[in-house]
Amino acid sequence: MRSINITLESECYDLNLTFKPSFVSSTYKQIEKNVWKKFDSPMFRGLTIRQEKRNILIKGLVSIDRERIEDFVFAETGLWHAPFEYDIHKVSKKFRWVLEEFSYLYSGVRIPVSLFEQDKIFIAVCLSKRTDYEVFVRSWMEKILEKYGNNVLDIVYASKEDLLKIGTSYQIFDLIDTLKSATIFHKSLENLPTYVKEHLHYRERIENPFRFLSTEIPPQIARMVLISKVKGIGPKTADSYLLNTSFHTDIAPVDTHLRNVIMRLQLFGENLKTPQSNLCSKYVCRKYVSRKLKIPLCPMSNSCIRVKILELGELAGWFQTLIYLFGREYCRKNKPQCDTCPLKKDCNYFSST
Ligand code: SF4
Ligand code: SF4
Repeated sequence: MRSINITLESECYDLNLTFKPSFVSSTYKQIEKNVWKKFDSPMFRGLTIRQEKRNILIKGLVSIDRERIEDFVFAETGLWHAPFEYDIHKVSKKFRWVLEEFSYLYSGVRIPVSLFEQDKIFIAVCLSKRTDYEVFVRSWMEKILEKYGNNVLDIVYASKEDLLKIGTSYQIFDLIDTLKSATIFHKSLENLPTYVKEHLHYRERIENPFRFLSTEIPPQIARMVLISKVKGIGPKTADSYLLNTSFHTDIAPVDTHLRNVIMRLQLFGENLKTPQSNLCSKYVCRKYVSRKLKIPLCPMSNSCIRVKILELGELAGWFQTLIYLFGREYCRKNKPQCDTCPLKKDCNYFSST
């Protein structure tokens, strides 16, 4: 293992706000206010990331090739990308005000990307279905990583008793079937549309299906494959996985917070629809992608929430992350905290109640 002791200078960066909503943080434990410690494994030992004002200090032991250590540090902290706040002026005026409001409330959020642990991120994303990431998924992940370390996929061989030691929720049991189908998706491509198969058929062997989906094919294709070939994966889980394991920040998982906030503030008009798995497995959302990849455009593209968010381009994933933070703090599904909400003067829902 190599010892690393790196200090990065940051601007407009908040480690806690960046890590809390990110699935990458499921491989860490917060040990102090501004300090996160990576779970030990054969790849990392005693690795901590600490923020001291503008300095981000990364220390510990890693078994990553020397030339990839810098990639790892920048990707995992989210510092690979300049502050998204700097690009708000590129967005159309109609949406700019809300980006300005959210970025004022949650300043310094970036998008961490996992370069070496896609399988762990996949597991965390699967576990997060219909449950609270920060309350439940973190604690399940801690137990999983403690038991399986780098061999997390071995959880598919776990006995019922072993799974019950992680937790009793159905997400833990559903995970096994999802993982099994994810590791063999490339062995049965027959149900995929021909235009998707054309992007995959020249791969004879896929050593690491998770890395393959994140890094070796266009994210739109990876999304279609995940949704159509992997049991239990829908549009939101596919997008969450890709946002946290690729450098494509123009991906936006449509979760409950996003739906609620957008509908209540009526940011993109009324009567918007949520992504449908049966459509997402066959079509792409945007015209230019349809032309580029030669895949038909979705018939719901005029009324789908995801398409509206994708209009924000590279800011889409960041915007969704800010809404997640806002949705947890104020705009909760049940009992939104309207009285203290800083956006209430612009909110249709608030003015109509
Ligand atoms: S536009 Fe169609 S393909 Fe795109 S997310 Fe919506 S339902 Fe899915
Ligand atoms: S005023 Fe209430 S409903 Fe409107 S955005 Fe704020 S918390 Fe949500």
